[in-house]
Amino acid sequence: MIIKEIPLPGVDVSTPQGLINVAAMTVGTTVLGPGKRSVLWVQGCPFHCAGCIAPDWIPFRPANAVNPVEAAGYLLSDPEVTGITLSGGEPMMQALPLARLLEAAQRIRPVNVVVYTGFRYEDLHKHPPVVGVHRLLEMVDVLIDGPFIQKLNDNKGVRGSSNQRILRLTNKLDGFDFEDQPRSIELRVQNGQILIIGVPDNHLLQTLDQIVDRK
Ligand code: SF4
Repeated sequence: MIIKEIPLPGVDVSTPQGLINVAAMTVGTTVLGPGKRSVLWVQGCPFHCAGCIAPDWIPFRPANAVNPVEAAGYLLSDPEVTGITLSGGEPMMQALPLARLLEAAQRIRPVNVVVYTGFRYEDLHKHPPVVGVHRLLEMVDVLIDGPFIQKLNDNKGVRGSSNQRILRLTNKLDGFDFEDQPRSIELRVQNGQILIIGVPDNHLLQTLDQIVDRK
C-alpha cells in the first residue's frame, strides 16, 4: 500500500514489452512472509476489490518499467534476503516478465517465493489471463489466492481476508504460519513515497485513511 505518491523526476513511465510495470520494490522486510525477504508490487489490477489496501496500484497505467533481470539483482542485493514476495496490483497480469525475474533470482541464489493474486488457483490453470501464468506458477512456493473481501477481514495472518487461501505449492515453507499469526507492518520512506509494507489490521487502516484524508 502507498499512502502518498510524489512523482519522481526522470522516471521512465513507459513499459516496453518484456519489462515489468512496477509500482514499488523494497529490500529486506520481515512482514510479508517468512524470514528476511524482498517485495515487488506491480502496477495494475483488474479486480477493484472494495476496501483494497493499495488503491493507487489498481489502475493499469505506466509506472516504472523495470528489466526483470535487473529487478532480480536489486531484490537480492542484500545477502541476508532468502525470499521474494510478489504482490500488487495483480502479479498474474504480468506473469511472463515476473517468471523471468524469478528465474533470474534463482540463478543468483536459491530463494523461496510467495505470490499474492486476486485470481483463484483453479481459474489460473484453466483460463490463464495472459501468457506466462503456468511458467510463473511453477516458480511459486506459496500462493495466496482470491480477491480481498472486506467483511471477511478477520485481522489475522499474512492475508487480507479469510476467503483467501494459503496454497502451499511446494513444501518449502511448511513451517510458517501464514493463516493465524498476528499482523505487523513496516513503514518505509523511499523514492519520495511512504510505503506501508505488510497487511495492516482494520484499526490501523482506518487511522491511516484518516491521516491521508487530512492531508
Ligand atoms: S486483488 Fe488485491 S490489489 Fe487487486 S483490487 Fe483486490 S485487494 Fe486490491
